[in-house]
Amino acid sequence: MRSNKDQSFSADPGLEHAINLLRQVSFEPQNLPKKCPNSGLGELETLDLLAPHVLGRAAHLDRSDALAHMDPPTPWITWVAALWNASLNQNLLHSATAPFAIEAEKLVIDWLTPFFGMNGGHLCSGSTLANLTSLWAARDSAGIKRVVASQASHLSIKKSARILGLTYEEIPTNSKGQIDAEQLNNISDACLVLTAGTTATGSIDSLKLAGQAKWTHVDAAWAGPLCLSPSHTHLLEGIEKADSVAVSAHKWFFQPKDSALVMFRDPKKANSEISFGGGYLTSPNIGIQGSRGASAIPLLATLIAWGRDGLVERIDRTMSMAAKLAENLHNNKGITLWALPTTGVTVFRPLSCMTEELHKRLPEGMFSTCLLDDKTWLRSVAANPLADIDEIISTINDEIN
Ligand SMILES: *Cc1c(COP(=O)(O)O)cnc(C)c1O
Repeated sequence: MRSNKDQSFSADPGLEHAINLLRQVSFEPQNLPKKCPNSGLGELETLDLLAPHVLGRAAHLDRSDALAHMDPPTPWITWVAALWNASLNQNLLHSATAPFAIEAEKLVIDWLTPFFGMNGGHLCSGSTLANLTSLWAARDSAGIKRVVASQASHLSIKKSARILGLTYEEIPTNSKGQIDAEQLNNISDACLVLTAGTTATGSIDSLKLAGQAKWTHVDAAWAGPLCLSPSHTHLLEGIEKADSVAVSAHKWFFQPKDSALVMFRDPKKANSEISFGGGYLTSPNIGIQGSRGASAIPLLATLIAWGRDGLVERIDRTMSMAAKLAENLHNNKGITLWALPTTGVTVFRPLSCMTEELHKRLPEGMFSTCLLDDKTWLRSVAANPLADIDEIISTINDEIN
């Protein structure tokens, strides 16, 4: 039975207004209150006050020249699913509040884990947490005390090792930005972390190494979704030998934050070490987060609406853009290309001026920068299927020719 007494908790009349604001293109921001207000402005006035800030003062990741970051634009069906989630505020911790949300997460996990050779897992807020959860399982179910990763691994690996009290050993990278296998000593008692899509250059560590350590974790935060693509899945061959895999759904699965998957080859064994039960819980709390929202529902909606084919078409489209960009940069005599991109990340620098100088001249959001071999490089990440790669190429060619 629904109560209509307090309109602040019902859908009318503000949502239509909110959607109209979402369609608006230019705004004039007004100052926000300096202190927490004692009396409220009311919802509609608040939307008008906040829209210019929230909607007007953010990067628009769907712009045709946006290609700088691992953050994609999100399909509108995820906005709706996220709105439904917020309105219901279900908690994955309690089956009583979230019967379907729990089922939705099981479905998404059942559908996606086979692409990675895994057999189960759960969703969490990001790969930082997925990495921490995996190393926790490695410590407590395999007894590992050492984490071995390349110097290009994500900072969350080092952070996780610190939190878990594990020794962290960093291995240099080879010229392709991969872990240098020749410098690996005995790893039979260690957790080896392989990165599939390093954050700076998109390199994939040799996944042939998976299965050689006591526990192998593959940090596939960025490039994991390529496993669904028939034309690119070979790039991650060997991932199925891992014990755990992390993938950020809010990167190449086009999900709103905060959404990631942590997956295990032996979920029963892993879960038994990372679960706590008792007290007010009817089923054990698996993983690190306690209360947790239904981020599986936007992902489920995307998978049903687009199908695997629709998802893969968008991922492959961005991969083609990166290939075209790299080919063009390669032919530009004023530019050094770091390497041909393997996972949609293209890294280059100008020869005739400072990288920072060129970065400033180019439209904001077109490229980001990264530091490699003590030099600053420009970095482009093909996360935006709406990018106009010809426009981006001609912008850069106009600056450097
Ligand atoms: C982005 C990224 C992470 C961290 O993931 P979040 O979802 O931002 O927490 C970890 N590893 C790699 C390789 C990444 O690219």
